Amino acid sequence: MRLRLPKFLALLATVACAPTQRERPVRAATAAPTAVAAGAPGTRLGDLGGRAPAASELPVGPASRQAKAAAAGLENVVPPEETVVRVLLYHGIGTRTSRPVVKARAFREQLDWLEAHDIEVIRLSQLLDFLDGELWLPRHAAVITIDDGELNGYSKAYPILKERGLPFTLGLATQVIEEHRTRGALNWLQIREMVDSGLCEVASHSVTHRKMTLLPDEVARFELERSRAVLTEELALRPEAFFYPLGDNNYRVRRLAKQSGYRAAFVAHGGPTIAGTQRFGIPRYDVKPDTSMRKFRSFFNHGIPVLRSSR
Ligand SMILES: [Zn+2]
Repeated sequence: MRLRLPKFLALLATVACAPTQRERPVRAATAAPTAVAAGAPGTRLGDLGGRAPAASELPVGPASRQAKAAAAGLENVVPPEETVVRVLLYHGIGTRTSRPVVKARAFREQLDWLEAHDIEVIRLSQLLDFLDGELWLPRHAAVITIDDGELNGYSKAYPILKERGLPFTLGLATQVIEEHRTRGALNWLQIREMVDSGLCEVASHSVTHRKMTLLPDEVARFELERSRAVLTEELALRPEAFFYPLGDNNYRVRRLAKQSGYRAAFVAHGGPTIAGTQRFGIPRYDVKPDTSMRKFRSFFNHGIPVLRSSR
């Protein structure tokens, strides 16, 4: 049935005068941020289960970077140009001689040394927030990454890290986990348990662990995207970082990683990470079975940049 013209105009006026979301006064976000539901797409691992809120959930502004740090449990934060972060790369903890794994005793000693020297072990997602200018960090920080999904990540490394409450990130090549062909590989149950502890974050380390520079675009894209899809499906999280298998990358691979929607990608050779570090070539110090304490200490002794603004 057609509306008569006066009735139609009256209806139009009512609709036009109704307050919309946009017309309401906009207030600064002052309410306490709510925790993201576990498993929601895009959730950062550090935010699960009511723990530290995501940087993106907190107000934006100079003071907020410190507020975010406080919310994340970080103390003694400094302006970004004064922070140096070292990302440590492990291939497992244990005694397996066929793999470059670090002995549990050496691993403990390294963690003791970090603690004794006030080097804060932070989450990988916090490093990404720092690089995005969303979070301030302590002057010296370290990120622990463990590549390749070896069972000893669960049986040896996890108990030590859990005992100390230290966060870490597993770099997982999904085919190894899915097919479980390799003896001594992690399974999804073990990974879920570590993720659920709130300490473990996950990065994609490709599907088949091949050198990315040797793969045509299409295959490289598959490695980047399929691995993330599998991890998302199995673990109800969306990895934001990619660890290049064998550290192998070039400009083309970095571009593909970026296009695939990753927030950052990590290589396998050392160097400090500072504000402004290229996010698709973040360095990692390779901690090997023969890395002495002297060598380990040296990771933290050199390459401290002087980037302070002139005062
Ligand atoms: Zn690897």
